[in-house]
Amino acid sequence: MTTLRFLDPDGSRYGLPTYPWGMAWTTAEDMATRKQLAAMGLRPGSTHPDAQLMWRSRRARNGVRTAALYRISEAKPKDEFTAARARGLAAAMRARRTCPTCRQVFVYVIPTSLGECPACHEGGTPEAWELEAAA
Ligand SMILES: [Zn+2]
Repeated sequence: MTTLRFLDPDGSRYGLPTYPWGMAWTTAEDMATRKQLAAMGLRPGSTHPDAQLMWRSRRARNGVRTAALYRISEAKPKDEFTAARARGLAAAMRARRTCPTCRQVFVYVIPTSLGECPACHEGGTPEAWELEAAA
């Protein structure tokens, strides 16, 4: 059987648990390719694949093609780094909207020409509508 030729769940033949194409979804439920993980908003939890898919291909030099499989249970969220960067960016923007004199947070960026909010610059108190809390 050509299919069973590629079935090696304990990796004794190929050095990595191996499943034939089309059979992995019933045999290895916790496994997905990098592309499938990405579709779920995930990325591989390890740099080394946990298993592989193997199928016959006339285009491949040795007649066999493989695709790396990763454990879905060990996958990490794809957007982890982006979310952290977004938080950092939001904090930086908030700092630019905070008056260094009165420490109030405004809806607009503090003018660098003034170095503080117009109210502090004029010696008055900020209008309520200018404050973030009122926005
Ligand atoms: Zn101020």
